[in-house]
Amino acid sequence: MTRRSFGALAFAAGLDSKASYFVSNSAGKILQQSWADAASPISFGSLLKPFLVVSYLNSGAGAPELECHGASDGCWSAHGHGRQDIVRALANSCNVYFRFLATRLDMAALEAIALRYQLLPPDRSWNRARLIGLGEGWPQQPDAVVRAFAQLSKNTGESSVRTALRGMALCAEEGTAKAAGFACYAKTGTAVCRHRAHGLGDGFALAMYPIDQPRRVLLMSRHNTTGAETARGLKGLRDTCG
Ligand SMILES: [Zn+2]
Repeated sequence: MTRRSFGALAFAAGLDSKASYFVSNSAGKILQQSWADAASPISFGSLLKPFLVVSYLNSGAGAPELECHGASDGCWSAHGHGRQDIVRALANSCNVYFRFLATRLDMAALEAIALRYQLLPPDRSWNRARLIGLGEGWPQQPDAVVRAFAQLSKNTGESSVRTALRGMALCAEEGTAKAAGFACYAKTGTAVCRHRAHGLGDGFALAMYPIDQPRRVLLMSRHNTTGAETARGLKGLRDTCG
């Protein structure tokens, strides 16, 4: 499909000019893109949490169940997520659970994961909260994020990756990416607004489909909204690129 006809289809599917997106195949080859300033690394909020899951589980540490009481525990969810295992915590993007993981992560192991997935490694001087997308977050280039997830979807021989993918499937079913409205592996993120006209935040949503063997990776961004709300646009993008 040419860029021009894709653009017309994207417009028809309700992808207005305020939505930025990348579409890749399972090899991470970029098929379509509309993203201003794509060479600049930016924070994707919670979007990279699946790589924390993989890094943490690869270390052999058991994943606990934790209780999230919500805002009083420092979670973004006011009322809390209740009891969370690692799969549910990823689906819900629970900050109580991921703060626990982030503070126990071996930074050398996380750097190795970043290297393997060709992501920019985190700096050891950072507050660990940045790893779960808070504050300035863990900045990456959008095309690198798309390629990293494409690679993740293929590493199903590793149990840590299978666990992360289970969490991403649940994320689309009933978690923060529920608004996507179709079966896929998904994750959302909300970052502090990077635009000059400061808004509520920048929302990000990623999807890989079909579930049995992903052929496509979609990454969307929307200004002045949440990742959960941005996920609503994934279906239109999927319908546009087939
Ligand atoms: Zn929570």
